[in-house]
Amino acid sequence: MKILCVGRNYVEHAKELNNPVPQAPMLFMKPATALLNQGKPFYHPEFSQDIHYELEIVLRISGNGRHIEPEFAHKYYDQIALGIDFTARDLQSRLKEKGHPWEIAKAFDHSAVVSPFVDLPVDHQQGIHFELRKNGEVVQSGNTRDMIFSFDDLISYSSRFFKLQTGDYFFTGTPAGVGPVKVGDLLEGYLEGEKLLHCAIR
Ligand code: ZN
Repeated sequence: MKILCVGRNYVEHAKELNNPVPQAPMLFMKPATALLNQGKPFYHPEFSQDIHYELEIVLRISGNGRHIEPEFAHKYYDQIALGIDFTARDLQSRLKEKGHPWEIAKAFDHSAVVSPFVDLPVDHQQGIHFELRKNGEVVQSGNTRDMIFSFDDLISYSSRFFKLQTGDYFFTGTPAGVGPVKVGDLLEGYLEGEKLLHCAIR
């Protein structure tokens, strides 16, 4: 399986990192080895002094397809989860400056925490609210209606380049409020008010 991700899919988050708002989805990937099933602790790696959390809605891809038209895109995902796209911000900043690829900052082992999946809410077009608490305090609060590119846009666009396969995951971008974690922190993710994700930093 593969993990597709999009950067800068919420305007306020693009602004907080001084990035321009993209004209097309900015895709990247993480390998299957990046996956950390929730409930397991995240061990802070030694190669970064500035690991950031990014809470995101994750789609579970439920069909195989390429060149998917936007109007059929909804047939290719059926469940959602909360995920944390852990990012070594210090490495990423250095790589961005040089115009180098991001993998070591974004795709390292256990950089993709994924909660249990739940069925996609039937009224999800109205927006899905999700929230991250760090040590009990709300640090990110987002709604999918603020996405620049919708779930269907992301599925359609990415399938022009990559064949989507059942069991792939799609991280759909983070709202504003990203920040660092340190050993001892506890991250908890809420979907429509229900706690779905739990990750201790060790
Ligand atoms: Zn992200």
